[in-house]
Amino acid sequence: MANGESYDCIVIGTGPGGYETAIRAAQLGMDTAVVEKDKLGGVCLNVGCIPTKALLRSAEVMADAQHLDDFGLELNGEVTPNFEKVVERSRGASNQMNQGVQYLMNKNDIDVLYGHGTLLGDGEVQVEPSTNMDGEEIGEEQTAEAEHIIIATGARPNEIPPLPIDEENVVSYRGAMLQTDQPDRLAVVGAGAIGVEFAYFYQNMGTDVTLVEVMDRIVPAEDPDVSAQLRESFEEAGIDVMTGAEVQGFEEDGEALSVEIETGDGTEHVETDQILSAVGVAPNVEDLGLDAVGVELDDTGHIATDEFYRTGADGLYAIGDVSGAPWLAHKASHEGILCVEKIAGEDVRPFSMTDVPACTYCQPQIASVQIPVPGQRQGRRRGPPRGLRQDDLRREVRRAPRCAHHRPQRHRDDRGGRQRAHPRDDRSRDDGVDAPAPDALGGGHGGEPRGLRPAD
Ligand SMILES: Cc1cc2nc3c(=O)[nH]c(=O)nc-3n(C[C@H](O)[C@H](O)[C@H](O)COP(=O)(O)OP(=O)(O)OC[C@H]3O[C@@H](n4cnc5c(N)ncnc54)[C@H](O)[C@@H]3O)c2cc1C
Repeated sequence: MANGESYDCIVIGTGPGGYETAIRAAQLGMDTAVVEKDKLGGVCLNVGCIPTKALLRSAEVMADAQHLDDFGLELNGEVTPNFEKVVERSRGASNQMNQGVQYLMNKNDIDVLYGHGTLLGDGEVQVEPSTNMDGEEIGEEQTAEAEHIIIATGARPNEIPPLPIDEENVVSYRGAMLQTDQPDRLAVVGAGAIGVEFAYFYQNMGTDVTLVEVMDRIVPAEDPDVSAQLRESFEEAGIDVMTGAEVQGFEEDGEALSVEIETGDGTEHVETDQILSAVGVAPNVEDLGLDAVGVELDDTGHIATDEFYRTGADGLYAIGDVSGAPWLAHKASHEGILCVEKIAGEDVRPFSMTDVPACTYCQPQIASVQIPVPGQRQGRRRGPPRGLRQDDLRREVRRAPRCAHHRPQRHRDDRGGRQRAHPRDDRSRDDGVDAPAPDALGGGHGGEPRGLRPAD
């Protein structure tokens, strides 16, 4: 038996998956608690979506400031970044959002149990004190129990053997957004959404960036046309882009680092001051007691669930990054909401991963709703929409002329395109759209949960 409180629902982790889940559970009348070993808001609010978007906004302003006459403006002087202040502004955005989650927990009568949560079995969770990202000791030893426990423990930076992360020579996304010393040169390894966003940010702050990608194109989860457009813009901005390039390791060379990179043409060495390892994320499945309670992992190492986020173990569920791709905040929130609505007996239907909008916030920004890339598996449960095979889809590229849309027109770079995929027999129904363009994502921070709809 637990020595602490008994709840209807306990959510472990308070990222956008966990806190939205807890709020919905409370709204549905469940007595709810969350367990959090760090700061409320998870990766997204503290070291992910929110602080990077604040950094990127500074980078956008900086980029526009270099071309003021394109806007009919004149500057009598020079605009230079104050890197420390740029980072400070981003931390301010995180802190504000973090306090917002605390407010929402209070407002919805959700108990916050600070500390590291471990599953004990029979609906019990052990909570032990932990240290948060600010170095503060938080929480107290206690146990709590619930009929329904939702694991929303998220993910952390992935690490590869040639690039052990020490947050000095080799930084993860955490180090890259928290450091206040700006490197003169930065090698960004990995050109997925996180890699290209940081490449854009640092280049516009005045760092010389080399972007290294092992696949044959950057943003490889997007359509090849999108990759090509982004590469063109990056190279125009001065970013050195290497594709089909695999990092083998690096050596310290005095103050500098020499990165050894295998390309199709042989071995190259890139001299840099720092390396950002942006090679994906790894699920937080350790130290949770999963084995003891019979929760199994899938073949990608994420927690295996059915379409309503039930693990094989009674009363245990998993949502968000810990349960697999796509690793996006709005997908995590939506899964959590469906999970508790199903628990509460609401009439919910599973949604298709093909309907999850994806978003990348460098410039040009990339908005896409799954256009299946021929022959490419894009992550768990992705692929052609339910009931359709790849061959059933007809892919059409419809490029908007440069002047056709007001958003690109508002910017200096008025390139942009739009393509759509639709079932061969139904031209009226779009099953995929992408738009690489300035301001493609409008003011949103990470796609829109409203964009999700049940399969079919
Ligand atoms: C640099 C960066 C930029 C991003 N930008 C975007 C974007 O623009 N749009 C977008 O949609 N997505 C973006 N993402 C992805 C997004 O942040 C994640 O998909 C999202 O945070 C996942 O939410 P989650 O709730 O599953 O987990 P997380 O946000 O990772 O939260 C998990 C929480 O669980 C806690 N926890 C873990 N283990 C335990 C334990 N045992 N006990 C107690 N607490 C525990 C952690 O401390 C953490 O607070 C970005 C990610 C990064 C890294």
